[in-house]
Amino acid sequence: MLIVMHHRATPDQIRTVVDTIDEMGYRAKPIPGYQRIAIGLVGNDGRVEEARLVGLPGVREVIKVSKPYKQVSREWREENTLVRLENGTVLGGPEVVLMAGPCAVESRGQILEIADRVRHLGASVLRGGAFKPRTSPYSFQGLGARGLELLAEARDRTGLAVVTEAVDAESVAVVAEHADMIQIGARNMQNYPLLKRAGRSGRPVLLKRGMSATITELLLAAEYLLSEGNPDVVLCERGVRSFDPATRNVFDLTAIPLAKSLTHLPVIADPSHATGMRDKVVPMARAAVAAGADGVLVEVHPNPPEALSDGVQSLYPEQFRELVAQCGPIARAIGRSLASPPVPLVAEHAGV
Ligand code: PEP
Ligand code: MN
Repeated sequence: MLIVMHHRATPDQIRTVVDTIDEMGYRAKPIPGYQRIAIGLVGNDGRVEEARLVGLPGVREVIKVSKPYKQVSREWREENTLVRLENGTVLGGPEVVLMAGPCAVESRGQILEIADRVRHLGASVLRGGAFKPRTSPYSFQGLGARGLELLAEARDRTGLAVVTEAVDAESVAVVAEHADMIQIGARNMQNYPLLKRAGRSGRPVLLKRGMSATITELLLAAEYLLSEGNPDVVLCERGVRSFDPATRNVFDLTAIPLAKSLTHLPVIADPSHATGMRDKVVPMARAAVAAGADGVLVEVHPNPPEALSDGVQSLYPEQFRELVAQCGPIARAIGRSLASPPVPLVAEHAGV
């Protein structure tokens, strides 16, 4: 439930509303915004006596949020949420953010080389898995804590922000210590202990859509993160499973404008996992930008045929160059632009 105040409501009137909500046994959450002063009522079990709030001085209206998800909805917050990463990258604003890197961190040489290349080609965020959620227990599971250290080294050299996956609640702390953003993968979208822990991590979270998750389920998973106090959540459309094995998944392009109309959170797209085919990634990255994605996440590897995971869908660096060149004009056609890479923290081309 939302309590919308009159424009000229006094601080005392706002405080009275907050105190009343507390007395009723719920949590009051002021909602920042330029357009209106509103206070959210959290913990509503559907039995709230709204009459107690409607009559308070300064209250303009009391709105019942109609959706099952509350804090992530556009009803709750009308303006886009801007998610800021430590290197200055902003998601959800006019700029389209490029996130690139290998599926998995494989070695120091590999991650430092690809970080340097994708930064020079236009990425602002380095992606790379240290803990990998593999379908088969016999597949490469990632370098674990060592992979996180290598990602942090790559960040220090290039100025790129780092996003990497936490596969369980236990690994959130160590991922939060090394990364700028915590990824929650498709296989874990409904891992509630993990969502709750990531909601208390103090780091922005990149939440990927589950393999067969509806948009409502994705938004409810995001609600777990916000309800634990983390407002910095970015959603990612990465394709859903279908009957047709011709592509790895079916890229649900409509999910991008749809999610953006239902939520104030940034929405990005991952055409690598959505297609599973290297030569389809660039066309679908173009489509994602055209559909209004706030960012594009792609797998890029210095030598895809040798990759230890997802090589068939990983771009060669030259293809990433093409992606950047083609997505720029598309972004401009819809009044946006590609985010510029950060200024590196360490001398360019530091020896690898
Ligand atoms: C990944 O980003 O490498 C990954 C495992 O993605 P998803 O969770 O979307 O399958
Ligand atoms: Mn992958």
